[in-house]
Amino acid sequence: MRLCASFTIPNHPLVLNILDLFNKLISRGFTIFFCWVPSHVGIVGNEQADRPANSAVAPMDMTIPVVDLKKHVKMLLYSNWQEQWDLETNNKRQSVKLLVQHWPSLTSRKADTLLTRLRIGHTRFTHLHLLFGEEPPMCSLCICHMSVRHMLSECANFNARRLQFFQAPSVSLPCLLDKTPHDNLFPFLKSIKFFFNDLISGFTLLYAFYHVPPPLF
Ligand SMILES: [Zn+2]
Repeated sequence: MRLCASFTIPNHPLVLNILDLFNKLISRGFTIFFCWVPSHVGIVGNEQADRPANSAVAPMDMTIPVVDLKKHVKMLLYSNWQEQWDLETNNKRQSVKLLVQHWPSLTSRKADTLLTRLRIGHTRFTHLHLLFGEEPPMCSLCICHMSVRHMLSECANFNARRLQFFQAPSVSLPCLLDKTPHDNLFPFLKSIKFFFNDLISGFTLLYAFYHVPPPLF
């Protein structure tokens, strides 16, 4: 009914057929009234009216608009993708992104690159050693390998900064790196000297100074 009454040009085959039939009847002098009939349980003749109505919407040999087909295929693909993703319980990225869905980009290219690297847990700081065959960076306080999770959520070195920016000494990764990242994520990273500018080479660079005590106060 909405599509038939719409001022925009319809492209659904069923609507086009209805409008074509409507115009033909009008040109022959018929007067057609459209009316929305709500569910009329208890009204005499309801069953009789429902039977032909249901048969009309039974599977018909008619074309399907491409836009409807695309939407259906997309939903099906996302559903299958989600089922596979749900099984990836050992994948550390699942804890950051539970639902398979599009996440918008940030307007700043550099900030968006940094955010993506944090989400996948692969930053230059934590993984650059692989390129040079060196030892992975260690947290001198906790005596463990440095990781994005350790830096953002766990390391006691930054408890005071987390309290300052997130009002808690420990924050979960989804809280920081969700579809809409935490407002204080970048101020926090800057405060712990986790910069991401390498203007000389033109590459985005994660650079942290874990070998010196962070300026917590
Ligand atoms: Zn640590």
